[in-house]
Amino acid sequence: MTPLLGAIADDFTGATDLAGLLARSGARVSLRIGVPEGPSADAAPFEVIALKIRTAPVDKAVAEARAALGWLQAAGARQAFWKYCSTFDSTPRGNIGPVAEALMQMLGTGQTIYCPAFPENGRSVYMGNLFVGQQPLAESPMKDHPLTPMRDSNLMRLLAPQVAGRVGLADRPTVARGSAALAGALAKMADEGVAHVIADAVEDADLEVIAEACRNFALLTGGSALALPLARQLGAARAADRPAPPRLSNAAVVLSGSCSAMTRAQVAAYRKLGRPALSLDPVTLDREGPESAAKWLAGQDLAAAPLIYATAEPEAVAAAQKALGRDRAGAVVEAALASLAQTARDLGARRFVVAGGETSGAVTGALGVARLDIGAEIAPGVPWCFGTSAGETVALALKSGNFGGEAFFSEALAALEAP
Ligand code: ADP
Repeated sequence: MTPLLGAIADDFTGATDLAGLLARSGARVSLRIGVPEGPSADAAPFEVIALKIRTAPVDKAVAEARAALGWLQAAGARQAFWKYCSTFDSTPRGNIGPVAEALMQMLGTGQTIYCPAFPENGRSVYMGNLFVGQQPLAESPMKDHPLTPMRDSNLMRLLAPQVAGRVGLADRPTVARGSAALAGALAKMADEGVAHVIADAVEDADLEVIAEACRNFALLTGGSALALPLARQLGAARAADRPAPPRLSNAAVVLSGSCSAMTRAQVAAYRKLGRPALSLDPVTLDREGPESAAKWLAGQDLAAAPLIYATAEPEAVAAAQKALGRDRAGAVVEAALASLAQTARDLGARRFVVAGGETSGAVTGALGVARLDIGAEIAPGVPWCFGTSAGETVALALKSGNFGGEAFFSEALAALEAP
């Protein structure tokens, strides 16, 4: 069938988050890792293409997003969605705006909306300012993110330098008046030449209004939460389409490269359970590579789901970055966890719990997984995904930094035990 919605996500956990929420509609969701080669013979109602461009140079990000949209257009996608993080993660030379503008140009549309709000996960936007729980973005733990420290909470100020077109705001009072009022306000802004509209949303009802008002938009952009009402309104529910989850060995590994506050709590909670755990130090890794960690892993009982983590407190991250440089510290850790994922698979692991957006991209790439079917949701925005690695069916739970509760790692493993 031709996809009702074709989505492009800027990282892997963003893509799985979006795919998981689209799957709540009951429809089949297909997640492709990178732009697929060749045309699609088996397109699902919801197609999501996962890219790894959140921190890529603008030119590369734009080129990859254009290629992804080209594939989705060829598959016949009726509406496009550009998915980024609900905390608007971007570098100062950010990619969110340039990619949106490139996609708008390809689609021949003069206006799109930016709606990162995810009320269920405590992300809300009010008067153009993004909040994480009760804190403004720039006062939240996101201010210390290793790759994309967010030091401004105002989305208009963040977006304006990234785009050529005019930036405007559909504020909460307008959204609260309903979809007709919002559609009217958007049309008025379009007449005034406002191409990029930040849409306020503080609760799920606001997302319903925004999805309805933007029903005929060729391109929507935002976090994954907007996908819920969008999927419902597109009426794609076909539970029977969904493949049954495969039966897999319980050999598992947990790999964590996220340093977010929630992941730090998750690592601590998992260690408290007495699970085997190994901490990686970027400076040692840079010198010696992941061999000793691989050796440690080979000595573990994979049925106990050992944890390997580079997750560290902000001071330790800063120290590693000082020693190696920010990019090198990140790359060394990502390469090590990717290589350890291969080691784990070769040792028989079939279940992988991965923490960190960039980390998940690196791990999935190393496992050579090209396409994932979306299964049951573990926590809001984190589903189990099933794919093929070196001829073996594997299950992957790919979690971006702030997602999940403290018990996420053990909950994820338990969720796969359930029938
Ligand atoms: P999140 O989803 O929390 O943003 P990511 O995996 O996307 O997590 O990003 C975390 C980045 O931090 C990765 O590039 C990772 O390699 C890097 N990193 C992880 N641990 C450390 C550490 N101890 N020191 C420096 N950088 C680290």
